[in-house]
Amino acid sequence: MRSNTDEPTVVVVGGGIAGCQAARELAADHSVIVLERDNVATGATGVSAGLIAPTLFYGDRPAVANYANEFVRQFDGTNGFEFHERDRLDFVGPTDRNEAKATATELAERGFPVAYLEAATVADRYPQFDVDGFDGAVHYGDTGWVDPYTYTNAIRTAAEDAGATVEAGVTATNVTTDESGVTGVETVENGHYPADAVVLAAGWRTPELLPDGAAVPARPYRTQCIVLRPESPLADDFPLGRVGDEHLYFRPEHNGDLLIGGAHEPISDPLSASADADESFKLEVADFVPSVIDGFDGAGFVNGWSGVDTASPDTRPIIGPPPGGPDGLIVATGFNGLGVMASPVVGPVVRHHVTDASIEFSPDVFDPARFDSLENGFEYVSTSEI
Ligand SMILES: Cc1cc2nc3c(=O)[nH]c(=O)nc-3n(C[C@H](O)[C@H](O)[C@H](O)COP(=O)(O)OP(=O)(O)OC[C@H]3O[C@@H](n4cnc5c(N)ncnc54)[C@H](O)[C@@H]3O)c2cc1C
Repeated sequence: MRSNTDEPTVVVVGGGIAGCQAARELAADHSVIVLERDNVATGATGVSAGLIAPTLFYGDRPAVANYANEFVRQFDGTNGFEFHERDRLDFVGPTDRNEAKATATELAERGFPVAYLEAATVADRYPQFDVDGFDGAVHYGDTGWVDPYTYTNAIRTAAEDAGATVEAGVTATNVTTDESGVTGVETVENGHYPADAVVLAAGWRTPELLPDGAAVPARPYRTQCIVLRPESPLADDFPLGRVGDEHLYFRPEHNGDLLIGGAHEPISDPLSASADADESFKLEVADFVPSVIDGFDGAGFVNGWSGVDTASPDTRPIIGPPPGGPDGLIVATGFNGLGVMASPVVGPVVRHHVTDASIEFSPDVFDPARFDSLENGFEYVSTSEI
């Protein structure tokens, strides 16, 4: 570890993709310590499906989407990380045709490689899909997938190479403050860690770590994945996709299996939530996949799991100083099932708030204060519906 006592100390709570990205960004000119109660990438990050599609979810903020898109391409090949570029097809039913075409046109006008494909064109280019019942699909040419565990550990290694320290098995209990702002973090195992700034990137546990008077509207929700083995492995160029009406998304695995995700549900007690996929979700997937993709009539069930991520009221992350919080406190949470693809923005947004550094996109979309008018609680909105 580089030791430079002149550098401000930043304690990051949480070793998921958000905490590791914050650490990587700050480590060059801060003494950064990441505290992780378990191990790096063992929360939502480790069970993520790893789909990367910033254009789809941030197309209304082109600078954000471009930043996230470019990051995975630039980081590709670093510390064992690989970005697997794949087309994406978002299947569209007849009633959604006009809206989907308008979305594709708008994104194309903003410079993204997006187009509306009629059903016949989809059938021609992607013969493994049965397009009956679909009007067509929105085609994205800049999407892909990553292995989230490898990605996060590659980011962690980059942070450590820049001087950050990652301490696993250390549980933060609270942020300490005095009249000037944060003073550090108290832990169960090692007592107090002094800090000039604290970044809370503790997933759904973030709200419970906030000092009195600070609040962010973030709540846990559960979502599931299943891996199926087709009769023969999927081709190397098999696309990612989503069938919006069914709230299901999919991507190929390295070995030609298919990962299918969905079943978002708000929960109030994450600690008692099952980590397995539900029987009902398995049945839904077993029924749906063979009806849309060839080669799955005799598919085998490989694996299934669920995980808990953090929802925000508008499905966008909450990154910045929490309203009512002390000086020097930053939160990075509320990633709504999109935190792996959105994670590149965490670093610059956190740096902007810690150091006042300029930033190449507006961080307002992530501002925790945008929810000031909310009282307690909010209605959960699934990203599968946007
Ligand atoms: C099943 C599933 C599929 C998903 N698929 C995708 C996808 O395809 N694409 C995509 O972009 N996103 C996807 N996501 C979402 C993505 O995984 C999350 O948004 C992202 O990983 C959130 O990262 P995080 O760092 O905020 O949280 P986490 O990964 O949960 O990290 C928080 C960390 O904080 C630690 N922590 C908590 N409390 C403390 C404490 N008191 N002290 C110390 N450490 C603490 C936890 O142990 C944890 O490691 C998916 C999520 C799930 C569950």
